[in-house]
Amino acid sequence: MGTPDKQKSAAVSLTTPVQFLSGVGPRRAPLLEKLGLRTAVDVLFLFPRDYQDLTQLRTVANLEEDKLQTVCGVVEESELRATGPGRSILGVLIRDASGGYLRALWFNQPFMQRQFFRDQRVMVSGKPRRNGLFWEVAHPMVTPLGDDEDEPEGRIVPVYPLTEGLKQWHLRRIVRNVVDTHVELLDEVFPLDYLEMHHLWPLRRALPEIHFPTDWESLEAARRRFVYQELFILQLGLAVRRQQQRTDSLAPPMEVSAKIDARIRRRFPFELTEGQAKAIAEISADMARGVPMNRLLQGDVGSGKTIVAVYAMLAAVAHGYQAVLMAPTEVLARQHVLTLKRLLAGSRVRLGPLVGGLSAAARRETLEHIAAGTIDLVVGTQAILQEDVVFSKLGLVVIDEQHKFGVRQRAALKRSGLDPHYLVMTATPIPRTVTMTLFGDLDVSVLRDSPPGRQKVHTYLAEDDQRAKWWDFFGRKLREGRQGYVVVPLVEESDSVAAVSLDETYEALVNGPLEAFRVGLIHGRMTSDEKDAVMADFRSGEIQVLISTSVVEVGVDVPNATLMTIESAERFGLAQLHQLRGRISRGRYPGYCTVFAETESEEALARLKAFTSTTDGFRLAEVDFSLRGPGELFGTRQHGLPPFRIADLLRDTDFLEEARRDAAALVTDDPGLAKEKHAKLRRQMLTRYGKVLELGDVG
Ligand code: ADP
Ligand code: MG
Repeated sequence: MGTPDKQKSAAVSLTTPVQFLSGVGPRRAPLLEKLGLRTAVDVLFLFPRDYQDLTQLRTVANLEEDKLQTVCGVVEESELRATGPGRSILGVLIRDASGGYLRALWFNQPFMQRQFFRDQRVMVSGKPRRNGLFWEVAHPMVTPLGDDEDEPEGRIVPVYPLTEGLKQWHLRRIVRNVVDTHVELLDEVFPLDYLEMHHLWPLRRALPEIHFPTDWESLEAARRRFVYQELFILQLGLAVRRQQQRTDSLAPPMEVSAKIDARIRRRFPFELTEGQAKAIAEISADMARGVPMNRLLQGDVGSGKTIVAVYAMLAAVAHGYQAVLMAPTEVLARQHVLTLKRLLAGSRVRLGPLVGGLSAAARRETLEHIAAGTIDLVVGTQAILQEDVVFSKLGLVVIDEQHKFGVRQRAALKRSGLDPHYLVMTATPIPRTVTMTLFGDLDVSVLRDSPPGRQKVHTYLAEDDQRAKWWDFFGRKLREGRQGYVVVPLVEESDSVAAVSLDETYEALVNGPLEAFRVGLIHGRMTSDEKDAVMADFRSGEIQVLISTSVVEVGVDVPNATLMTIESAERFGLAQLHQLRGRISRGRYPGYCTVFAETESEEALARLKAFTSTTDGFRLAEVDFSLRGPGELFGTRQHGLPPFRIADLLRDTDFLEEARRDAAALVTDDPGLAKEKHAKLRRQMLTRYGKVLELGDVG
């Protein structure tokens, strides 16, 4: 191999800068650095983003229709043809060694042409078809071969992430060299008996195979090793964090006696569902201990999470502690104030609303009472966190309708003495795998059932020409006494996309199909008092139809409202649509939700179809997850966690369960990971997660 001799001694260290690695040099080093590769070890752990299967290497003469195969050849010519506005066909003619021709086709991807030049050697993989005398393959995977690179016959070839100016075959060669020269320097992180017991390949065996697999089976085994490791290290961090929360902090124990329990339940106007009763039992058990509860309450929209929170808050108050309930929006915070007022009518529990629209004097007075301990329950938006609220004896923090709360965010509430208990409630169901990672340091309660007597919501995706019919139906239901929403996505002035604006919709409806009805308008730019007045009128039935932006999205609870029109529905995410629909599934009457969309996008239509096909929030969460992927939906980054390098939460569910179980077992067996044989695991866990999980000094 042609390694420059004077670098030889430097080239066998894991920390060798990439510049001195064989095949890199000063010109390519900056390109590697763009990919985040600074030293040899970074290159070793640059996992392929895909693989090309060359085990089925064929000459054109031996091709079979519709089977995944690969042909090696040279580019003879490429031709780009326009076939309509914005439409084109790119044809690239490839000649194999035996003189056979294969045409590779790309539809509407004219930019692909840049990748090809005459006489270039390429490997083309795809499912070919015969077209007359020619073989064609549409949208194949193409990998250029180096001029002097052997045809990697019968192999599975890695495909790496690239950056402008760096070629696939170049990077492949660089990695090959580093793997050959450096893999023996790598240290195993797992104890040997651990590897054996969990059927994991040792690092030095797995690493060459993840880059240059012998066959699909060994690739799978190698991948399993790395995915498991990545998930396991995170789960270790989460397990240690949970353990620390249990041992390091003290919270007031609040045992719910039978007497307290009866006193709280007497306030509820209905029987608890089985799910609610179970969640309450779990919460009570947590709060009875002298360490802070850290619990996530998951439930579908309308499953009745509020009452569970109220129970926990009243339990805290019964022990002489304060509780605070925080909602994501003003509208919802105000609704919670109303609910609590209703439930607590005639009781001695003192309620302190910290919502917008309080006069400065009233606000100051409330704050004083909170500090003096003469207010028991505080309700507001998350703004409370930023404010100068001082509690006298805070025992419980409830965070309602949270989507983004993750491992990192802990409410930074001012308090003295003991830590409060925490209860976080989700806005919509979260896929299980996401719960186990982003919310992995919390205990979880799930409400699977919903309150009895719930009616179905019928959901339709309608075309424009069905509008008249829909409004006709809408009006009929209003006359029967029902109420409804019209939801319009918020459109910024600068938005060039033609979407219906709120005012336009309002004008068109009150002068059109809703002429005969009392119509109100609510949006985020109104003052708190204005919003309050509108919501009060809607609740009382004074307003029959509420035209709204997504401010009604979360939590709003008006059981008589059973109708909903959603305009430009493609602009909402699946979770948001489900939340919106949740507004009309709360009472004794069936709901009707019709969505209109202005899109041809397949992704958007798939989302809307899924939305109309089921009202099960847990199912929708999984669908959303698979349509959009974890990155976008529950980006690890927005929760403060570094992104995964190889694990894929969609695909690796089983590994995740396994890693989570194993990590919990290991931490139980060796708290703080103090044993010598776990030292390397501990170090890796701290390097990667010590800071974000605030693990401090372990052990
Ligand atoms: P979410 O889980 O979406 O926050 P809410 O707590 O707002 O749901 O509850 C939705 C509606 O169901 C409310 O009107 C509430 O009063 C009602 N509800 C909750 N629990 C029960 C129950 N066990 N029986 C009857 N109605 C209930
Ligand atoms: Mg709620």
